[in-house]
Amino acid sequence: MIKKIKELEAASKLLEPNAGEREQLRDAVVNYTENFIETIGEQKARYVTEHNGAGLYNYPIQETGIDLDKVLDIYQENLDEVGSNCPSPGYLAYIPGGSIYHSALGDFWAGISNRYSAVFHSGPGAVRMENMLIDWMKDLFKYPKAAVGNLTSGGSIANLLAVLAARDNAKLSGETLNKAVVYFSGQAHHCLDKALRIACLGEVNYRFVPLDDHYRMRVDALEDMIQEDKAAGLEPWLLVGQIGTTDTGAVDPINKLADVAEANKMWFHIDAAYGGFFTLTEEAQKHFAGVERSDSIVLDPHKGLFLPFGTGVVLVKDKSALDKSCSSKANYMQDTKDLAEELSPAELSPELSRPFRALRMWLPLQILGLAPFRAALSEKLLLTKYFYQEIQKQDHIVVGPEPDLSVAIFRYEPDPQLGIDANEFNKQLVKLIEEDGRIFLSSTNIDGQYWIRFVALCFRSHLDIVDTALQIITEKSKILLDNQQKAAV
Ligand SMILES: *Cc1c(COP(=O)(O)O)cnc(C)c1O
Repeated sequence: MIKKIKELEAASKLLEPNAGEREQLRDAVVNYTENFIETIGEQKARYVTEHNGAGLYNYPIQETGIDLDKVLDIYQENLDEVGSNCPSPGYLAYIPGGSIYHSALGDFWAGISNRYSAVFHSGPGAVRMENMLIDWMKDLFKYPKAAVGNLTSGGSIANLLAVLAARDNAKLSGETLNKAVVYFSGQAHHCLDKALRIACLGEVNYRFVPLDDHYRMRVDALEDMIQEDKAAGLEPWLLVGQIGTTDTGAVDPINKLADVAEANKMWFHIDAAYGGFFTLTEEAQKHFAGVERSDSIVLDPHKGLFLPFGTGVVLVKDKSALDKSCSSKANYMQDTKDLAEELSPAELSPELSRPFRALRMWLPLQILGLAPFRAALSEKLLLTKYFYQEIQKQDHIVVGPEPDLSVAIFRYEPDPQLGIDANEFNKQLVKLIEEDGRIFLSSTNIDGQYWIRFVALCFRSHLDIVDTALQIITEKSKILLDNQQKAAV
């Protein structure tokens, strides 16, 4: 047996490369990533390929490994040169995610030290690091000391936790569930509907509140709906406000929504996954009046703090609302209760073992301080203003309302005499821009109309790429128009 153990030990030693081998591995990966960052400005924001990464299946997992150089080639071809390139400055679509270097190093470091961040007893430092970040965000939104929060994988899970808290706070079940009403903006993110269904709340009554001409929730319409629902014997339960919708970046009138929620004893949740960190700027302050009156709020540091994908946040004012779903006990963890100086993340979420998420956020904030984040966010607001102002100067371009944050919508309206379908034209325009790849724009449908979205949130998007975008839009709409006119002849 000893002989066998020794043999296995020798074979498993490959799992622990020595210093020289680590250096080789590290150099190869660092060289790759250095090249990636150094050439990011020349890379496409969107790759249109036939294979879309299917080459990965040519390399099934086997008993013995392959060369790292080969692995890097496989990666480049099947991951970095297909689909969307979110870290690229030309990525102006959907809601851009970040990928700041400090945060990536935090992930590298966290992967090596592998601090256990679920339970205080195991990782008191890791838990305190998360809690101090949560405290910082509580302060940003003037939440009380007793409020709690959790670093999640993203905004969807953070919204789910808020929905669970709202559900258990109102003790919804059976009859109360059928009578409960949730009120959203017509532009609420689809993850809220998903969260309700996951929380077994698919049967509650949904109300999509009409929007004003800035796509903000109309408070008068909300109040009318609530009165009608009450008259019909229903129970207003949850009001969801948006700080930045995904469609247009619209911000609901938060303070007024708080009044309505208070008057009707509803849980007031704010989905600020996209827009929340704009609170770090002077310019956006007006949108945040009244945030402290909400019961829960969701943020996405992997959007507004430019972290790589994988970090969302939920803040909940009343911890007891989360207890029903998330408090835990287990015999095999009995000793962990002896050292519990702070609340553990595992008490606030369905997760137990989880990535050590705090380091990827704490490291950049500590090393850089807040100033560059504030500057980048203010810059994105101004770039969007600039884009909005300049795109209007182009022939046949129609714009949506003045942007609240960093999303601007526009569409090309061809001369009606040409008999061109405007929706189809704009769809083709997005496709042409995508095929070009220097920038990437996405679209949305508003009341049956196809609108193109410009979103500045990638930390690498600066004035030059906005000018390039303006130029590409002119160029491609001209080509498209010419083609259509030729085809019509
Ligand atoms: C991105 C987003 C979400 C979902 O967050 P994920 O991090 O993608 O899970 C929810 N709401 C809004 C407004 C968003 O922009």
